[in-house]
Amino acid sequence: MPSHNWRNRFRGRGSRWTAPREAILNLLISTSKHMSAKEIYRSLLRIYPAIGLTTVYRTLDVLEQMGYLNKIPLGTGENKYELITDSSETHHHHLICTQCGRIIDYTDFEESELIKKAEQTLKTKHGFKITDYNFEFYGICKHCQERR
Ligand SMILES: [Zn+2]
Ligand SMILES: [Zn+2]
Repeated sequence: MPSHNWRNRFRGRGSRWTAPREAILNLLISTSKHMSAKEIYRSLLRIYPAIGLTTVYRTLDVLEQMGYLNKIPLGTGENKYELITDSSETHHHHLICTQCGRIIDYTDFEESELIKKAEQTLKTKHGFKITDYNFEFYGICKHCQERR
């Protein structure tokens, strides 16, 4: 989504469209990576030297609360963020390396079949209607295992 659409979304919700918000959104739009606050701060510093780390943290909080970002806890106290794109895009899960913080996106067809079954079971058993779910797997990535 181009950034002027984001600006309209903000205005539509009575939120202020500020330079840091725009800069952070543009960065996350342009990358396919999951980024931590510090990584975002370091990348923005080059093009936007006035930005502070506190502003980055605060902006990420606001964007997450507005439902625009997905916060992925690394299990180390740090989080990484990714932009939530249109729901038409496939749901994906995360493999999170607790050594280097690398995040691998994955989707698995067999698994989504399994989830559909689980959804059905939970609905029958508990009358619970699932609207969303999120899997994060923590472990050690291939690179970190080879480095040992
Ligand atoms: Zn790793
Ligand atoms: Zn992801």
